[in-house]
Amino acid sequence: MSVIGQAEGIEHGTITGYKQHIYRKIKPCEDCKKALREDRAAARRGERPERAKPQRTSRRKAAEELDAAAATPVLLPVPPPPQLPDRPEIGVPIKGRELEIGDVIVFLGDHHRIDRFEPYTGSLRAELGEGTRVACSGTWGMTVGPTSTVRILPRPTGDAA
Ligand SMILES: [Zn+2]
Repeated sequence: MSVIGQAEGIEHGTITGYKQHIYRKIKPCEDCKKALREDRAAARRGERPERAKPQRTSRRKAAEELDAAAATPVLLPVPPPPQLPDRPEIGVPIKGRELEIGDVIVFLGDHHRIDRFEPYTGSLRAELGEGTRVACSGTWGMTVGPTSTVRILPRPTGDAA
């Protein structure tokens, strides 16, 4: 049975009601016209988020986001120092666990005399191993795993110290 011409069941005062008026070929009542006016006014003001255009991520934007993700730096464990011949001026290799206060780390051509060790609290403990610590020299610090290779200046021997 068609609802054309039937006023019964119209949801007056709503957009749906207005559409029902049109569909049923019944002149819209004031309440429904008012609802339509308010709806359109709201749309002009940018309200009605439920009818807003779906936010589509453009292909280009997605690609830019991928690039940004790829450019995000990833923290890596301290790289092993390059294999260099044993020359005193560039230090001698020892294991991180053998480091002691007073040792002088040779790092990138600079010398850092260790004055203290601080506990390592970073996220690489699992990779670097239990016993990882930070060898500190003033404000300088170097994360050293127990099996990391560190170059230090040869320790003084004998009674010279
Ligand atoms: Zn109506």
